Amino acid sequence: MHIPFNNLSIKKSEKYIDIFKKFLKSGKFINSNGVKKFENLFSQKFGFRYSIGCNSGTDAIEIALRLFKQREDEAAITVSHTATATVSAIFRSGVRPIFCDIEKDFNTMCPISLEKTIKICKKKKINLRYIIPVHIYGQIADMEKINEISKKYNLIIIEDCSQSHGSYYIKNKNVKNNICVFSLYPTKNLGALGDAGIVCTNNRKYYSSLKILREYGWVDRICKNVKGINSRLDELQAYILLYKLELFNKNFTKRQLIAKKYLKEISNKKIKLPYIRINTVHAFHLFVIQVKERNRFIKFLKNKKIETAIHYSKPLHKHEGFAKIIKFDKLVNTEKLSNKIVSLPMNENLTNKEIITIIKTINEFK
Ligand SMILES: *Cc1c(COP(=O)(O)O)cnc(C)c1O
Repeated sequence: MHIPFNNLSIKKSEKYIDIFKKFLKSGKFINSNGVKKFENLFSQKFGFRYSIGCNSGTDAIEIALRLFKQREDEAAITVSHTATATVSAIFRSGVRPIFCDIEKDFNTMCPISLEKTIKICKKKKINLRYIIPVHIYGQIADMEKINEISKKYNLIIIEDCSQSHGSYYIKNKNVKNNICVFSLYPTKNLGALGDAGIVCTNNRKYYSSLKILREYGWVDRICKNVKGINSRLDELQAYILLYKLELFNKNFTKRQLIAKKYLKEISNKKIKLPYIRINTVHAFHLFVIQVKERNRFIKFLKNKKIETAIHYSKPLHKHEGFAKIIKFDKLVNTEKLSNKIVSLPMNENLTNKEIITIIKTINEFK
């Protein structure tokens, strides 16, 4: 049995062909009813007042930053343990990224390292304006503390939720910010058949501006804002996403079941299983374990035809292109983590038999 890390191939294509036919018949291929309907349903589903579809998760971050940006010298604190996109979006917005460390157990932005970094920025008179936490793997960052810090220092939070569709605080679903951005890239928990992203907010004024920013700065075809770009959510992708949204609950539950099984049945002492932050639901976009002898472990699974992946093998501050990004705190946890992490297969297509085989094989690793 060969178990791929992920398999996006669609064999039952009838539904998608029907969708395509409907799309063709509509004769409206840009920013029309499909996009509007998807934005509304996405808002409803994930508890926002407003959503603005755009071309990718990267663009979603850029559009959010363009909404607030006033000067050329602004800076944003984020983590180095994230997708490249988080930081390339910050750069493209003309904002200067600064890294802080992550928490050891949860792999998300460390509030202590964050505050330490903020204090140094203040001392150095850096025009710090944003905090961009990432809910990596589907694990919610410590938003209670990060929100407190943002208020204390008057900073704007933009949450990168690209891996966390469906995560939330159990007691307080409203630990939600100004602005949350999502990627709808094909592999994400809610994914299109191409590039797509979305920006969400509960603030009406922000909503009006975001809508203008994603399309040339237009209001009634007159440019009102020179910061506007062209980053619309593709109408065809919106049609597909409407269908994917229908499947979301089922797929989300499947991920929860797989995670539960992995957590309960992987008993090999060499494997460190992921934690789930208390009072939160983890979306398990990725199921990431830690193993000291990682290469041997990956090879062992590969020999048994089980594919794994690494998210991410190099923290961003070690990427050549990002080498000059400032970090005022040592990224101790970030660096320790990257040598040990392995992502196990985690997707709605895994069969019971495959899940059992994965668990059994991991438990046999010596
Ligand atoms: C996927 C991802 C993005 C970027 O999304 P694109 O749609 O590929 O631009 C941004 N941040 C994180 C954490 C992601 O996982």
